[in-house]
Amino acid sequence: PQVVACRDVTREYTRGSESRFSRQTHPTVTALEGVSVDIRPGEFVGIAGPSGSGKSTLLHLLAGLDTPSEGEVTLAGTKTTGLSEQRRARLRLEHVGIVFQHFYLLPSISARGNVALPLVEYGVGKSTRRETATDLLGRVGLDNRTTHKPGELSGGEQQRVAIARALATDPEVLIADEPTGELDTETGDRIIGVLRASTDDRAVVVASHDERVLEETDRVLRLRDGRLVSDG
Ligand code: ADP
Ligand code: ADP
Repeated sequence: PQVVACRDVTREYTRGSESRFSRQTHPTVTALEGVSVDIRPGEFVGIAGPSGSGKSTLLHLLAGLDTPSEGEVTLAGTKTTGLSEQRRARLRLEHVGIVFQHFYLLPSISARGNVALPLVEYGVGKSTRRETATDLLGRVGLDNRTTHKPGELSGGEQQRVAIARALATDPEVLIADEPTGELDTETGDRIIGVLRASTDDRAVVVASHDERVLEETDRVLRLRDGRLVSDG
């Protein structure tokens, strides 16, 4: 039973926009080509490869943020291609947690408020949201930072808030794009520990340049020029 699967996935990007004044065909970039992957519950998976090899593209497809040009991505049993934006957003809300390199926390609300935010969309009541957010901040070691705003926190603390937020809806898959990219080594190690601890029954997928991060994962998918060159 897999939580996310890619079958023969290709993703092409067209450079520039279509112009009705030009009959030129725009060059396309093939960011991914013929990639097939199954990700199972409880796996801690790394995605490796040089800059431009397709790591972010693959993560965005696995997260349902984007859909393939060819092939199919199945997320929690549902094919992402052909869904409306709204249904895809719902699928993400219900099954996926996403962590980016640049945290993307709301600066004007507290750490706890940021973590609780996905639960507002989920329709969870205020006291349960508070309780859940406080509990999650405790799990990432931020018990004493719940009422701080992002600007009052270090980079590592902000990334832990972002992880707690991604876990708020208890997703089957947690996806992280270069989560340690902005952090010093020691802080990065702590983030990896938090991600590893998040695995449990959940799949955690991390794209990274950092071999130290990849060493901690159970399985590494290596990309080169948009192709999967190794899986193990
Ligand atoms: P990585 O995350 O490994 O650095 P990406 O998935 O970001 O790789 O990019 C793979 C390839 O696709 C690169 O050649 C990149 O320039 C290209 N690419 C990524 N996003 C876009 C886009 N929105 N439009 C055009 N080309 C893109
Ligand atoms: P980068 O890899 O370019 O340094 P990030 O890894 O932080 O940046 O983010 C990757 C991409 O995802 C960015 O292009 C950003 O605009 C986009 N992004 C960030 N947050 C969200 C979100 N909540 N929903 C959809 N896309 C997002």
